[in-house]
Amino acid sequence: MKVLYPGSFDPLTFGHLDLIKRAIDSFGEVIIAVLENPTKNSTFTVNRRLEQIKQATNQLSKIEIISYKGLTVDCAKKFQVDLILRGLRAMSDFEYELQIAHTNRSIDASIETIFLASEAHHSFLSSSVVKEVAMFGGNVDHMVPNLIANDLYEMFDIKYS
Ligand code: ADP
Repeated sequence: MKVLYPGSFDPLTFGHLDLIKRAIDSFGEVIIAVLENPTKNSTFTVNRRLEQIKQATNQLSKIEIISYKGLTVDCAKKFQVDLILRGLRAMSDFEYELQIAHTNRSIDASIETIFLASEAHHSFLSSSVVKEVAMFGGNVDHMVPNLIANDLYEMFDIKYS
């Protein structure tokens, strides 16, 4: 089975990575889809995010990394996936995720959304938390893969040796 894992991934965290690995085990094949969203101010360009994900997942097989514009359901149809995968960290995610899932089903009821709960020890992790910690000079090595930590330190001009 093939699932589409859409998101901003701005940047990818260990929480995303864990979900990707578990989805490969559970469903077989994962297409990681980076949304080019003109309404969101992104920190990293789509090309940089694709490169970060490519490097962070270079030990994994059964994945494809793509970017897309427009509706997620259209992307799902284009890549002929059976399911859209999203992650749930807390109740606060649930409301937002349920709204998106209902919206997507109202557009195309043939595409289902499934959710995986985050690992408890990743439930505090989000791209914005990681950026905030890095921005204020904190170490993010335990939150994101190496290359991404270095990108963040460079972006916020902080050096760790
Ligand atoms: P979006 O802007 O579409 O929410 P994100 O990159 O923030 O994109 O998240 C993509 C998906 O990954 C969402 O379903 C989100 O709930 C999930 N996710 C984000 N962080 C984690 C985490 N630490 N553990 C599990 N799932 C996560």
